Amino acid sequence: MKLVLVGPPASGKGSQAGLLAEKFNLKHISAGDLLREEKRKGTKRGKIIQGYIDKGQFVPDEITNELVKEQMTDNCVLDGYPRNLTQAHFLESFTKIDHVFLINVSKKTIYKRLSARRSCLNCGAVYNLITNPPKEKGKCDVCGGKLYIRKDDTKEGIKERLRLYDKNTKPLLKYYKEKGILREIDGEQPIKEVFNKIVSYL
Ligand SMILES: [Zn+2]
Repeated sequence: MKLVLVGPPASGKGSQAGLLAEKFNLKHISAGDLLREEKRKGTKRGKIIQGYIDKGQFVPDEITNELVKEQMTDNCVLDGYPRNLTQAHFLESFTKIDHVFLINVSKKTIYKRLSARRSCLNCGAVYNLITNPPKEKGKCDVCGGKLYIRKDDTKEGIKERLRLYDKNTKPLLKYYKEKGILREIDGEQPIKEVFNKIVSYL
């Protein structure tokens, strides 16, 4: 079984991917994690990735495609990939996806969830003042580092992320809808209920 999860930032798709991986014994493949891991290892490819990130640009599709393809198995859940039509066409060229779940959340909820995010300046750990607050205000539980608001999580940053998400995702969703494998899920509900809804399709 091969699943794809699509959703805007803070839709909770990462958590759902983790739960699905556990329940159905699937490999959880997060495109973001793969890119970060490659960068951390400092490989030739990692250095190229770093270059794009430093310039605040998207990593080219060819690199992300290659990283994901290397990790793909017969039973996996893809999280944050494909994020545009080019990547979806690439995926289609070598494998078949069974279900695509779109986790819908309103703009209001996205702003609310993302504005509550705090990141550690030192180790990068991420907190949420509502759902996962640090034990001590403004301080990282893991390393004691100072917590701050990432540029991505400011009002302007969120607006730009949503603009790009809409632009890239619209054609992707149309593509999967025409294939008849797109299922829309209400992501405003609690994690457990979102999960049960997804499972009901499988
Ligand atoms: Zn820390």
